[in-house]
Amino acid sequence: MRLRKRYGDYKVDKCPICNGVATVKNRQGLPTCTKHQKQDLNELKCSCGSWLDVQDGKYGPYFSCIKCGNIRYEKGLEINGYPLVSIGDL
Ligand SMILES: [Zn+2]
Ligand SMILES: [Zn+2]
Repeated sequence: MRLRKRYGDYKVDKCPICNGVATVKNRQGLPTCTKHQKQDLNELKCSCGSWLDVQDGKYGPYFSCIKCGNIRYEKGLEINGYPLVSIGDL
């Protein structure tokens, strides 16, 4: 049985802003729905209080924290409240 998820296997296909299906990418290289393609994510904070940087990795986007190192994309969004509906409309 192979139940363990390897790091990097996670497939991102949800728009982080509205939780809709992500079919395109925004300027930051993050998967978003077509409605939010031009919407950048606001600066996100890590659970330690530092800012998270969005990185576009080989296996998709992830975050990096100056103190905690790399943080999974999903986790970074979770810390900041997912989906990020509070960002507002275009
Ligand atoms: Zn969206
Ligand atoms: Zn941190």
